[in-house]
Amino acid sequence: MTEKIERLKTLIIGSGPAGYTAAIYAARADLKPVLYTGMEPGGQLTTTTEVDNFPGYPEGIDGPTMMVQLQQQAERFGTEVRIGMATAVEFSDEVGGIHKITIDDSKVIEAETVIISTGATAKYLGIPSEQKLRGGGVSACAVCDGFFYKGQDVAIVGAGDTAAEEASYLANICKKVTMLVRKDHMRASKAMQHRVESLDNIEIRYNTEVDTVLGDQVVEGLRMVNNVTGEKEDISITGLFIAIGHKPNTDIFKGQLEMDETGYVITKGKSTKTSKPGVFASGDVQDKEYRQAITAAGTGCMAALDAERYLATIESPEEVSKA
Ligand SMILES: Cc1cc2nc3c(=O)[nH]c(=O)nc-3n(C[C@H](O)[C@H](O)[C@H](O)COP(=O)(O)OP(=O)(O)OC[C@H]3O[C@@H](n4cnc5c(N)ncnc54)[C@H](O)[C@@H]3O)c2cc1C
Repeated sequence: MTEKIERLKTLIIGSGPAGYTAAIYAARADLKPVLYTGMEPGGQLTTTTEVDNFPGYPEGIDGPTMMVQLQQQAERFGTEVRIGMATAVEFSDEVGGIHKITIDDSKVIEAETVIISTGATAKYLGIPSEQKLRGGGVSACAVCDGFFYKGQDVAIVGAGDTAAEEASYLANICKKVTMLVRKDHMRASKAMQHRVESLDNIEIRYNTEVDTVLGDQVVEGLRMVNNVTGEKEDISITGLFIAIGHKPNTDIFKGQLEMDETGYVITKGKSTKTSKPGVFASGDVQDKEYRQAITAAGTGCMAALDAERYLATIESPEEVSKA
């Protein structure tokens, strides 16, 4: 006997702040959402110890606890949270069309609306000493974690606009910022380069890479290597920021949705609408600018409201042309 295909009003893909916030709103609007967690239940915040900037937590909160609470809040209104990965999608081009999503290469789900909240993955160097000290002074988010290094010496790795922006951000808070640039020039725009160069407490080291992050439990220093001369040098730092880019988790949507040149899903105007009717995107998967938990949560709320309004127009056919 063939398994009956499940039909949902709203399917949410991803369990970070965007996905759970979308779930809270969708569930309270009676859209009976089902949310698939993906390979990282709770999303990026489960990789950090302290979240100090999410409104409503005066003492701060650790990332994994915050994500469990968000899940519980979504479940309280009836969201069904399931472990599983979306492995393929077939989005309809029609207003009111049904979207097909394959879970774990086996189960197919049909959904009237889909909210994509699959986030982005920060890139790391991948060397063992860096991996060992992730969360112990190695971070991929200066805006999130810079504050913890106020008045201290830190280093940042990267040469693009984001790295330059994050270096200037850190220079405002920290005593000294050493910026490691792999090539003999930066990729960042001229304006950003000038900004970095104009700050007295940023030292730019060209042709320089990380050899080893020093420290046992926490970062205590950095062994740098000049990739032209091979010369090594140790400096004393307490924080190392990796700013070499993010990869949006959008591989399964290629060819289905409009994306920018780096793979971020494009949303329309101030909405979360994608290029397919009934498919919405929220959080870091569509935002390479802000990438914060609160902005992800904000767009999660928007996606659920957009989905609810879209469904209302489908149910009132005279409104469909406006959708
Ligand atoms: C080390 C670190 C520290 C940070 N600290 C802070 C902080 O202090 N404050 C702050 O505001 N922000 C912080 N951030 C940024 C913040 O974590 C992100 O902006 C936020 O988590 C983005 O939320 P999101 O819901 O868009 O996606 P994510 O949190 O990235 O979650 C994506 C979700 O999608 C799921 N997924 C992916 N692909 C699939 C698939 N095919 N099928 C099903 N599910 C899938 C994943 O399993 C995951 O659950 C930090 C980030 C990092 C890396």
